Amino acid sequence: MHVKLLGTAAGGGFPQWNCACPNCWRVRQGSFPGKARTQLQVAISPDDESWFLLNVSPDIRSQIASDSAFQPRGKPRGTPIRGVVLTGADLDQVLGLLMLREFQKFSIYATAAVERTLREDNSMFAVLNQVPDQVTWIRISPGHLFHLSSGQGKASLSCTPMSLGPHFPGYISPHRRENIPPGETLLGLTIQSESGRRLGYFPAVPAITPALLEELAVADVVLFDGTFWEEAELNRIRGSGPGARAIGHVPVSGSDGSLQLLSGIKTRKIYVHINNTNPMLDESGAQYQHVRAMGWEIGEDGWEFRL
Ligand SMILES: [Zn+2]
Repeated sequence: MHVKLLGTAAGGGFPQWNCACPNCWRVRQGSFPGKARTQLQVAISPDDESWFLLNVSPDIRSQIASDSAFQPRGKPRGTPIRGVVLTGADLDQVLGLLMLREFQKFSIYATAAVERTLREDNSMFAVLNQVPDQVTWIRISPGHLFHLSSGQGKASLSCTPMSLGPHFPGYISPHRRENIPPGETLLGLTIQSESGRRLGYFPAVPAITPALLEELAVADVVLFDGTFWEEAELNRIRGSGPGARAIGHVPVSGSDGSLQLLSGIKTRKIYVHINNTNPMLDESGAQYQHVRAMGWEIGEDGWEFRL
């Protein structure tokens, strides 16, 4: 399995258009000791011919343009992107679907809850199904393995979703909220290559449970929620705002943060979905040094590896 990190920031990217926090400010000044980042986008391939996107970021257009692996070859229209796996219906996870609306055939793997939230409540997503042979929606559910295949008899990846919910997107209506299974609203993924090696994709984790730790322990590489450094980060930067956990992200630091609670997981651990306010983005800072000393890596746009 070939894995590419096309983007590694949380929603808004880094720098974020309307943010003048110390991080964003210094990036614009050209004085930040660290890297700018686009919004989280991971792509996986069983054979370097067909690619599958894990969610679709609002930055997908520039992310495709920056890497020839995702560009059309030969025919007047085409793409190596065979499908998209959705782990939730937050805007940062799905907005990029609207950038892939040019009558291109591909598959979308989603739970019934996510599909209904998108297609029944948001008529814009009908642009993906304007003609009969456009996008195919494939139903997935937590705990049930499915395959991402390049085609009949070709290489494939097996993918097992795990429920991390409930987590509802900010735009959801009260009616929809009450009428979808809450356990289908947010997923993590364990993806296994034909060689048996495993990638854990957990970029939005509201709570670290024993079941989650068991799942992480069997992965060879884990891409994990690095959104916030601390619980009250948004409040500290903006003067107001919800706590990290209230919006679905266990923070990195603290005795009940991911650094501490995952310290027994001895696999390769990479933080992704990093919010622009997170001080660990500053490579000259104590937080960055601490994370690295604890054995973690902090994902950057353009990284890739094979499993
Ligand atoms: Zn900022």
